[in-house]
Amino acid sequence: MQLHRDSLAVTTGRPNGPGDPLNAPIFPTSTYRAGGQWVYGRDGNPGWLPVEHALGELEGGRAVAFASGVAAAAAVLGNVPVGAVVVAPRVQYHGIAAQLQRLAERGQVDCRVTDLTDRTATAAAIAGAHLVWVESPSNPLLEVIDLTWLAEQAHAAGALVVVDNTVATPLRQQPISLGADIVVHSATKFIGGHSDLLLGVVVSNSDQLVDLLLAYRHDQGSVPGAIEPFLALRGLRTLAVRLAHAERTAAELSLRLEAHPAVLRVRYPGLSSHPQHELARRQMSGFGSLVSFETVGSPEAAERLCESMQLLVHGTSLGGVETMIERRARYAGDQGQGVPETLLRMSIGLEHVEDLWYDLDARLTEMQRGVAP
Ligand SMILES: *Cc1c(COP(=O)(O)O)cnc(C)c1O
Repeated sequence: MQLHRDSLAVTTGRPNGPGDPLNAPIFPTSTYRAGGQWVYGRDGNPGWLPVEHALGELEGGRAVAFASGVAAAAAVLGNVPVGAVVVAPRVQYHGIAAQLQRLAERGQVDCRVTDLTDRTATAAAIAGAHLVWVESPSNPLLEVIDLTWLAEQAHAAGALVVVDNTVATPLRQQPISLGADIVVHSATKFIGGHSDLLLGVVVSNSDQLVDLLLAYRHDQGSVPGAIEPFLALRGLRTLAVRLAHAERTAAELSLRLEAHPAVLRVRYPGLSSHPQHELARRQMSGFGSLVSFETVGSPEAAERLCESMQLLVHGTSLGGVETMIERRARYAGDQGQGVPETLLRMSIGLEHVEDLWYDLDARLTEMQRGVAP
């Protein structure tokens, strides 16, 4: 029976023999009795396998779990030959941008930072490259990149394509089916979904690459804990309903924000005003639940707006059940990449849309009136 992805997210990665528990158990152990398949906790843990199986199945490859999304990225970049060219987005998740920059400073890679929404610039950057790193939609600008086109260009030039699929989730976009070689996730975000764990995953359909990733994880010790994979899989079970709810709210709020006099610009792939709206419609099966917007006025006023929120949580991270907001340029990493000074990234959670709007509208109106919140 061919299941929809929403159903697969519920059924995959479970024990299925008579008398088996419905949920795969956790194995809180650092070592094993000699003589069996498992030797030591850094080599592997049977508790990592169910979530790896689940995400491999959803993304169309084999998955390897890591201690965090950044550790997953490090494993991919750590397998790039010394001095090889990596094409990276002009604006991307700042933790990975910083990692790439430091790798470049040490001569490990030759990084070509490129506007991947510009086809001419991208085609030029890809020539002679070993790997192209893409985020689509990107964090925090929510730019959407044509993955099919990019994979064709990259493969013609002999380069691999890595897609950070954290923002789209495996339920809204399957990069491997669009031609990508590697998918990276911060399962910390939407997959975990409850802001209570850190976990990263790399998925690839190349057995050779998966073997290299397993060796890298072992050598670096960037292994998941015992409980995080269990929690991430538990989060995956409800991803479809969380995402559907949050997306409806994101669509509504992005429209209302677009009409608000205190807002300069709203970036949401579901808006017809989004520069890659048509592409997002073709490439994704939903527009996700991140909304970024720029406010009128100063960065300080935008910062105070975040601080004055009563329902929205002012803080970093995304993909949890609670709606979060923050001014991304408060981080040197995002400011350095040219993220607009008043850009606020919102990760929409599961609160009622009218409660969220009440908070947003009230704080924006206060800000615009210059009333000190
Ligand atoms: C958070 C994030 C990461 C890093 O993941 P961690 O689990 O925090 O290490 C990577 N990519 C994107 C798009 C993210 O949002």
